Amino acid sequence: MKKRIQRASAYIFAVLLVFAVSLTSILLVRGAIVDERQREAENILFYYREKIVLQLQGTVNEATALAQTVHTAQSAQADASAWFETAAVPLLQRPEVCMVALFEGDILGLILPQDKYGSLDGKELRDFSYIYTMSKVVKELVVEGPVVLQNDPEGQEVFLFLQPIVEEGAYLGQVAVALDRDYVLGQLGLENLSAQGYDYELWRVEPQNGNKEIVASSQAGADFSQAQKTAFNLPTQWTLSIQPRSGWLSVGQRLGLALLCILIQVLLLSLLFLLRRTLRQNRLLAEAGRMDQATGLCSRKGFTAALDGWLHEGGVPVTLFFFSLEGYAQAVRLIGPDKEEEYLQSIRPRLNDYIRSPFLAGRLDESSYLVALREEMDEQKRDDFAKGLSLELLLQVRIGGEKSFLMARYQYLCCTPDQGGAADQISELIRAYYRQVAAESPVRMLTEKCRQLIEGKSDVVFDEYTDLEMMELSKTFNRYRRQVEQLAYSDPVFSVGNRLKFLRDTNMLISYDKKRQFSLFCVDICSFSQYNELFSAEIGDEILHEVLRRLSRPFGSYLYRINGDVFLGVSLSGEGSASFADRLQSLFAEPVVAGALSFTLQVRISACMYPEHGKTPSELLDHIQSALRFAKESDRVVTVYNGQLDEMIHTEADILRRLKEAIQDGTLEVWYQPIMRLCENRYTAAEALSRLPDGKGGFFSAGQVISLAERNGIVEELGDYVLRRACLFMREHGEALGLTRMGVNLSVQQLLVGNSAGHLLNLIRSTGIDPRLVTLEITESVLIQSIDQAAQALEKLRQAGVHIALDDFGVGYSSLNYLSNLPADIIKIDRSLTRQILTSPKQDALLKSIVKMAAINGLSVVAEGVETRAEQQAIAKSCVHYIQGYFYARPMPEEELRRFLSP
Ligand code: C2E
Ligand code: CA
Ligand code: CA
Repeated sequence: MKKRIQRASAYIFAVLLVFAVSLTSILLVRGAIVDERQREAENILFYYREKIVLQLQGTVNEATALAQTVHTAQSAQADASAWFETAAVPLLQRPEVCMVALFEGDILGLILPQDKYGSLDGKELRDFSYIYTMSKVVKELVVEGPVVLQNDPEGQEVFLFLQPIVEEGAYLGQVAVALDRDYVLGQLGLENLSAQGYDYELWRVEPQNGNKEIVASSQAGADFSQAQKTAFNLPTQWTLSIQPRSGWLSVGQRLGLALLCILIQVLLLSLLFLLRRTLRQNRLLAEAGRMDQATGLCSRKGFTAALDGWLHEGGVPVTLFFFSLEGYAQAVRLIGPDKEEEYLQSIRPRLNDYIRSPFLAGRLDESSYLVALREEMDEQKRDDFAKGLSLELLLQVRIGGEKSFLMARYQYLCCTPDQGGAADQISELIRAYYRQVAAESPVRMLTEKCRQLIEGKSDVVFDEYTDLEMMELSKTFNRYRRQVEQLAYSDPVFSVGNRLKFLRDTNMLISYDKKRQFSLFCVDICSFSQYNELFSAEIGDEILHEVLRRLSRPFGSYLYRINGDVFLGVSLSGEGSASFADRLQSLFAEPVVAGALSFTLQVRISACMYPEHGKTPSELLDHIQSALRFAKESDRVVTVYNGQLDEMIHTEADILRRLKEAIQDGTLEVWYQPIMRLCENRYTAAEALSRLPDGKGGFFSAGQVISLAERNGIVEELGDYVLRRACLFMREHGEALGLTRMGVNLSVQQLLVGNSAGHLLNLIRSTGIDPRLVTLEITESVLIQSIDQAAQALEKLRQAGVHIALDDFGVGYSSLNYLSNLPADIIKIDRSLTRQILTSPKQDALLKSIVKMAAINGLSVVAEGVETRAEQQAIAKSCVHYIQGYFYARPMPEEELRRFLSP
């Protein structure tokens, strides 16, 4: 405000100065013009003065010549009066001569014309006017006029020329000549002055009373106070004054000057305006450099200048505070530019609200501030103030939906003028701040961060430290951490995320934005194990690489391998899951080339959506896996998780509950399907199949029950149950019914527990039958996967007489080469193969070679699932030893079988 008033008065002063300067210059110009004209007038006056003096003392003056005549006559002792008369008479002839007189001594000797002035003869000098006496006194020519002569009845105005006659300083008399006034003035030529544009005034001072007596004037009563004057003596003092009739400056000149004045003013004012604008621009530029645009606070430069001002003023002590928001750069990346702007704009009002004393505030760089305070403060007060202000500068950040705050750290310093300029003191303060930061044990901070990592915090940021070694350590540690994460979260062979990474990523997605929807897809390659088994692990890997390459197109980095051949992908695209799944499926239309081979892969896809189908990553994973299971069980390519699946899961829980109860209560039924020995044309064997009542008069599917039991770890209990029942049946009725073998299905899980063989043999023996009556059926594909662990147990069982059958042979295109090495006695060819015998010569050939190979290796062959006579005939031709299928009999309860087999 004060500065504004100062600036305003400076401008007013400048404007006044402009007026003064222009006026002065105009006056100077005017003075110069007037001077010039006056010099001109002076010259004219000089000329006229010379001329007038010359006229009055010479050309017009007759008195001197007359006096000479008289003097000459007196010297020649002649009659002076006669001489005078002789000279005067012709003079009087001239019209302008009005009177001629001769005084001899003080007495008038002769005066002409006699008729007019004769009466004055003999009068003394003192009887005449004072000029006559003056001529006697000054003893030189006296010119006086215009006067009226004594005794002149006409009162004619004349000029009197009085020439005294002097010899050796003694006055002898005088001659007086009066000339007509107009004549004399005419001789002076004063009118020429008028013609030259001047007004004039010729006047003289009357010696008797000192009055001014105007002799001639161009304009009576005019003011000649501004006129140029010249004086001369005759011997009374005469003065000639002249002045230009239109004044010393003409109208044109005056107009010109006024215009000039305006012009100068306009010019100067424009200059002043331009100057003001440049100054203002400079000032604004300087102010811009001194201000931080984003906050409206001072910049470092502005702050330094202002603080310098304070230090110079002295008085109340100044405390300087430095505040820094460490980690600001990361924080603003999280909050975004809009929130940052809002924050920065709020700082100035916050400071104004908080600080009561006079203060300066500046922003040094994006994350640090300076505040100078003019107030008496003790240490405690300074610290309180700094703490309070650091709270005022608090920046609120939302990380993972949770509020967190970035608080300013601070350092302060008491400023005194003797410690140097503001710039030095600011630098010193900042240095002190960083010394302090460095001193705050970075090791401890790093340790704390590691601890947070161990606790599973995922957003730990490894700061850059001011200490170089510390920074290096922190960077190295961060690299190591990434490596560990890489190991923990990614598949080492395929470098793709694993189940853990899926859980972590989706957890982050959800915590970042709970409302954001995404879809989850699970892709399973059908019967993948066959590639490993039939070809090699390398071929299997190659196929998986290609699968990953294809899947990474739609999923990018959100692709995970959660099981050997099961992949998960997250899509944020918002595309409908059905169409997305279709696209996924079409990715596998092209055959996959591995080595010299090419395969067309069959895939099963399941999908579920967040948050519709699950609120947590593990819930989603559970659901998508059950959807996949459903897909497998129901032999569907694409299954989107839905409520029905939930129902299914519900049913599963129900089955599981019933199964547990049935095992416990002994209500789980065991049915038997007889097996025809072709060469004897009678049933010599049967297969025991579990049947769980569904409570509605029917039974749950055995396959579903078994897979549930396997998944829920009760398949051993179930297996034991069925084995015991089957053995008991054989003990009671086997012989009577002509059965030499009882087949019991064995889940591979039953084989993998410790001492499984011992356990099973004990069980068989405990029923009191010969183990040779028992055939344990193990699914071929499952067995091969865990052959290393299972082989030993199987061998032990075989040694005890138990027969081993490879169940479902041919489903996984089992390698015939395996047969020789497998600890088996019987192979049971799966229905999927026997079913095709009639239609596919290839399968027929395969069946025949299986039988041949089996024969070579001393194995018996059972064909399963024979339903029709045609099938039966075709199979019989291929030399299989046994046939099992609906063609002969369906599985049936114990009593029924007894009836069926009774002779
Ligand atoms: P599996 O061992 O291959 O048993 C033969 C299955 O084929 C039986 O189905 C049987 O009913 C069916 N089958 C027999 N002949 C024909 C036919 O001509 N046409 C058709 N379409 N099917 C025929 P089931 O009883 O539903 O059992 C399914 C599977 O469940 C069994 O396949 C076996 O792997 C498993 N399983 C059944 N009971 C047990 C058990 O007590 N323990 C174990 N571990 N698994 C069992
Ligand atoms: Ca079986
Ligand atoms: Ca089978």
